[in-house]
Amino acid sequence: MDYKKLADMLFPNITKTISYYEETLFPDRGLPDGAKVTRLAPSPTGFIHLGNLYGAFVDERLAHQSNGVFILRIEDTDEKRKVEGAVETIINSLEFFDLRFDEGAGINGETGNYGPYFQSNRAEIYQTVAKHLIEMGRAYPCFCSEEELSKIREQQIAENVNTGYYGKWAVDRDLTLEEVKKHLDNNDSFVIRFKSMGNPEDTFEIDDAIRGRISSPVNFQDIVLLKANGIPTYHFAHVVDDHLMRVTHVVRGEEWLSTLPIHYELFTTLGWDLPVYCHTAHLMKMDNGVKRKLSKRKDPELGLEYYMQLGYHPAAVREYLMTILNSNFEEWRIQNPDSSIDDFPFTLDKMSNSGALFDLNKLNDVSKNVLVKIPATEIYDFLLNWAKEYKKEIVNPLTEHKDAVIKLLDVGRNSDKPRKDLIYCEQIFDFISYYFDEYFKIVDNYPENIDDQEAKKLLKAYLETYNHSDDQNQWFEKIRVIAAENGYAAKPKDYKKNPEMYKGHVGDVSTVIRIAIMGRSTSPDIWELQQIMGEEKVRNRIQSLI
Ligand code: GLU
Repeated sequence: MDYKKLADMLFPNITKTISYYEETLFPDRGLPDGAKVTRLAPSPTGFIHLGNLYGAFVDERLAHQSNGVFILRIEDTDEKRKVEGAVETIINSLEFFDLRFDEGAGINGETGNYGPYFQSNRAEIYQTVAKHLIEMGRAYPCFCSEEELSKIREQQIAENVNTGYYGKWAVDRDLTLEEVKKHLDNNDSFVIRFKSMGNPEDTFEIDDAIRGRISSPVNFQDIVLLKANGIPTYHFAHVVDDHLMRVTHVVRGEEWLSTLPIHYELFTTLGWDLPVYCHTAHLMKMDNGVKRKLSKRKDPELGLEYYMQLGYHPAAVREYLMTILNSNFEEWRIQNPDSSIDDFPFTLDKMSNSGALFDLNKLNDVSKNVLVKIPATEIYDFLLNWAKEYKKEIVNPLTEHKDAVIKLLDVGRNSDKPRKDLIYCEQIFDFISYYFDEYFKIVDNYPENIDDQEAKKLLKAYLETYNHSDDQNQWFEKIRVIAAENGYAAKPKDYKKNPEMYKGHVGDVSTVIRIAIMGRSTSPDIWELQQIMGEEKVRNRIQSLI
């Protein structure tokens, strides 16, 4: 068979060669030794999820820790799944989490010399490589219709052999030039298939940077390289793009492990070096005591929109993801509490290969610790920006009361044992909402030992003696007096010793005051909050209850 002739018949318009791309257009990047080139390769389906972000952090760290390059490549070969605006969503969401690409698709076009970075614009490149494989005798046109393929499949099932297009079942493998010409003259549609030399009994071994040495059966299927419209399958595009973009490390989900044999055979057939594969583990969650994969259908927290809508700070999400990415990160953080997360030496061998457990409660704990280190003025700006996007009705109140809000955000945060009340914007606003009359509501009940009548009596006494210029000690002394005068122990320890002698203790009295002013039974220091709220608001709140 004259493969060269076959190749020219199929791709008369393809005149470039692989070496043109390798040597002229996309030469070696000339990066320093050890510099890693990574890429995030999302499909523009409109759904960008935590798994993408998790992988993207790995890419970003590998590239930027080694003075390498981090690329954004858009895998848009599946017309049916394309969604308008999805690329913008991807870029904006990743930027929100502070992930910056050095090269690739961007909001205002592409940057970099190894593009195009949208696969849909790379047809000529894929066809050049396909033509080369045909010339080598390692790819061929297949004109089989869907019906023919299902017939083959039925027969394979009946004979109890592997299904698929391979070996003797690959009926178009040995078409003659004349037969191909006839099909082409007929305008019959065709795909280009790879001619696999694999034997189902053979295995191969490869080192995965996360999983260690992997042994797997080789590929033996004549998989499709180019679809009937000339657009590549994922497998072919992955091999061609990662080779020509000079990607050194391919970080992708473990769902790609099963097709790794295809990629292995393609790389080796083309005589190209394999990238270092890094197959990340699925993100899991505990669901009623059972560990399972996070699911798009069941778990809203899988989508990145979830974190943006609730207003998680990107630094908190990054910090949390790093705790699940590298098992030694938390220990490092304890030793380096004030270092930038970028100083942490991230490594692939500390990554889990058996499923990374994602836990929202843990994220919230991490977030508290991250936010406590961010100055209140910055939290205010973050809150306001979030509100502009997700809770417009609070933009005005926040702007009008800027100084008070900053003070409220800062109460109790500057001591040796700072309060860690702030988690994410939605919760932060709820936490300070009592300040705003239009959002104030009483959410907690008075202590059990105090009924409404009794509460009124205590609040009346409070209002009568209230002096806004009392310092914290004077203020609290007055509460002790009110407590004692009304049958409550002025000190909790007195109550503990002789509970039968009292109705309760001073803590119950301050809880009543707290509920009257803040609407809830726990809050930062009442005196400090009153000072921020101002005398009028405090008096009005009490007055309205008595
Ligand atoms: N487009 C593929 C995906 O979104 C990329 C996989 C890869 O990183 O190679 O799953």
